[in-house]
Amino acid sequence: MEVRAKKALGQHFLTDQSIARTIVDSLTCDPAMPKQVLEIGPGMGVLTQYLLQREDIDLMCIEIDTESVEYLLTHFNIHGHLMEGDYLRLNVSKIFGGDYRVIGNFPYNISSQIFFKILEDKDKVPEVVCMIQKEVADRIAEKPGTKTYGILSVLLQAWYDIEYVIAVGPGAFCPPPKVKSAVIRLRRNSRTDLGCDEKLFKQVVKTAFNQRRKTLRNALKPLIKEGMDTTDPVFDLRAERLSVEDFVALTKRFE
Ligand code: SAH
Repeated sequence: MEVRAKKALGQHFLTDQSIARTIVDSLTCDPAMPKQVLEIGPGMGVLTQYLLQREDIDLMCIEIDTESVEYLLTHFNIHGHLMEGDYLRLNVSKIFGGDYRVIGNFPYNISSQIFFKILEDKDKVPEVVCMIQKEVADRIAEKPGTKTYGILSVLLQAWYDIEYVIAVGPGAFCPPPKVKSAVIRLRRNSRTDLGCDEKLFKQVVKTAFNQRRKTLRNALKPLIKEGMDTTDPVFDLRAERLSVEDFVALTKRFE
């Protein structure tokens, strides 16, 4: 019996084995990388089967769907490597001491939330390999000055180098999603410190993009304190024009 695909859980099962292999092989084989690997949403185990074969990693999977969990337990030797639950509510430090990597064909409906959660643990997560909606992949990898450059682009690029691995068409899945997909790899860059307050940086980025069509002078109004000098030409720009470094410099003005 196969798992019945549930839309609400973003279930589109990858059926193309060669793509599955490419994804698993994209997880760097390097003794300097942490052995602990978390797979988010194994589903029917198309990635899991290859991950379990890798001797350089210790795998743990988290799957929210009871039917998938039952399927995995009957088809794979996965006992002890599988938890039933919601990744977004998972306290990862309870299962992994120390650093870990993340892999998965993410449920597209919550991929942004997954990235925000990974960012909370960025100093423990040196590598992420994931399939996401191509549009989101493009946005994440985008450079400043484009319409799709946004909050996640800035926040992820601040801490990760982002590589495009492969584009994947709907036909590689069952059932096929309505959108195109892409696999990306994120590797933690060498940045240890932004040079400004991190919480404030996030707040500035989010507020700036919340009203992305406005100039920063207007978009950032909720953060601008009375008497603050906003005559600098940077305030004439829109959020999408600013690089990570520009946002750092901007944040310092609010400190
Ligand atoms: N890895 C499989 C399935 C991808 S579909 C494959 O490539 O074929 C996304 C998977 O994530 C589904 O199995 C879905 O049940 C699971 N999922 C959805 N939301 C989740 C959550 N919050 N936590 C953990 N798993 C989740």
